[in-house]
Amino acid sequence: DLFINNEWHDAISGKTFPTVNPATGEVICQVAEADVADVDKAVKAARDAFRFGSPWRRMDASDRGLLLSRLADAIERDAAYLAELETLDNGKPYAVAFSVDVPMVIKCLRYYAGWADKWEGKTIPIDGDYFCYTRHEPVGVCGQIIPWNFPLLMQAWKLGPALATGNTVVMKVAEQTPLTALYVASLIKEVGFPDGVVNIVPGMGPTAGAAIAKHMDVDKVAFTGSTEVGHLIQQASGSSNLKRVTLELGGKSPNIILSDASLEDAVEQSHFALFFNQGQCCCAGSRTYVQADVYDEFVERSVERARRRVVGNPFDLKTEQGPQVDQEQFNKILGYISVGKREGAKLMCGGGVAADRGYFIQPTVFGDVQDNMTIAREEIFGPVMQILKFKTLEEVITRANDTKYGLAAAVFTKDIDKANYLSNGLRAGTVWINCYDVFGAQAPFGGYKASGNGRELGEYGLESYTEVKTVTIKVPQKNS
Ligand code: NAD
Ligand code: MG
Repeated sequence: DLFINNEWHDAISGKTFPTVNPATGEVICQVAEADVADVDKAVKAARDAFRFGSPWRRMDASDRGLLLSRLADAIERDAAYLAELETLDNGKPYAVAFSVDVPMVIKCLRYYAGWADKWEGKTIPIDGDYFCYTRHEPVGVCGQIIPWNFPLLMQAWKLGPALATGNTVVMKVAEQTPLTALYVASLIKEVGFPDGVVNIVPGMGPTAGAAIAKHMDVDKVAFTGSTEVGHLIQQASGSSNLKRVTLELGGKSPNIILSDASLEDAVEQSHFALFFNQGQCCCAGSRTYVQADVYDEFVERSVERARRRVVGNPFDLKTEQGPQVDQEQFNKILGYISVGKREGAKLMCGGGVAADRGYFIQPTVFGDVQDNMTIAREEIFGPVMQILKFKTLEEVITRANDTKYGLAAAVFTKDIDKANYLSNGLRAGTVWINCYDVFGAQAPFGGYKASGNGRELGEYGLESYTEVKTVTIKVPQKNS
């Protein structure tokens, strides 16, 4: 059901949609499908929870922090159940859901719980007989639209900063993976968040999602997903009420291997950079640039590693790679593999379907990839690696930056000067040196260029959930 005002509701239309286990293609259950009228209802609940003088607005900041902290505790208590549900609905290996996704969710919520009473304004030495200070106030009703690749984690990244700063939320979860967010909704109620502070409305993008983006009474929208839909979100703000917009979008992130790097490490990390989470990461290292003198050996070892990748039942603890999330992504990825072959990239391994049911795809490696090929320019979002050759650092900076995206990048080298030169030159929101996909709730994440705007996580992540109010008070200098 839909979670509105701390109660469970059928959709007003009575409609439901199926959510599918991607490992088998079977329907898990039916989920209430929110549309425009349900979004309206959720926005009203969130607006009422945000009204001046409401329990949420009057709550001490430290108590807001305590609620977030209790939510983290409840998630920790139910970690095994949540990880299982995540694997069932999304297809990611249970071992990963349990040991990576859920712990990161807990840490994110605890991190933001700590910020609730520490996000301070300033006192400002304005000219004249005045006392001037700033208040950090919540933006208001926040629409949050999240994707299916890290359902629990994207929910935490969005809720943490929004609630720590005192906003209320209407969240639309992805239609492919609604289940864990709804379970977390039951925990939100259990730990005692006031009615209407968090509302969760599963539904489709063009209906429920679009209704949030163009709603006249939503003050901010935070979106994670495709760059294509990111354009629509920003447009919807422009043509409605100019709500604040933050976007976390696609990428085609360069991962640069210099010839002095530890090859064994670089091969393993580059494999992880691309194949982690079935290749379904916005920051996947999907253009692997390898310096000419080590290119052949790097390709050979990467192919050998990809062939060893264990694909199968995501509940098997040995499994490294589960199914893609749905039929649409599965078809799209297979389409990119054919385009790669047709445009002349060299298929080194994989390239096909990996099981007779479910959405499994073989770990695939393309060598001899050229910058202008479709597979080097577009986000594939699947287990398909592109390896490209380069000679000089100047050349690789230019080529790495020749993309509309700018989410992440990585450099593998033992030379600190080369590492600094490249990390300064790369136009990306995150640069990893001799590592990949290292995340902490403390460090900001977000994109340059068409990879989005705004930053999530860390102290920076609080800014987009905050309005700064300047208060100036006349201070008479004489007693009268
Ligand atoms: P998407 O952008 O369509 O979906 C992301 C979220 O946006 C979902 O909740 C969806 O329902 C919602 N949405 C879709 N259309 C909308 C609209 N018109 N208005 C408001 N909300 C809308 O992504 P997708 O179709 O699931 O996947 C397509 C591609 O997007 C993938 O192949 C991948 O390249 C990229 N993607 C990126 C991320 C990321 O983490 N940045 C996540 C998922 C998908
Ligand atoms: Mg879509």
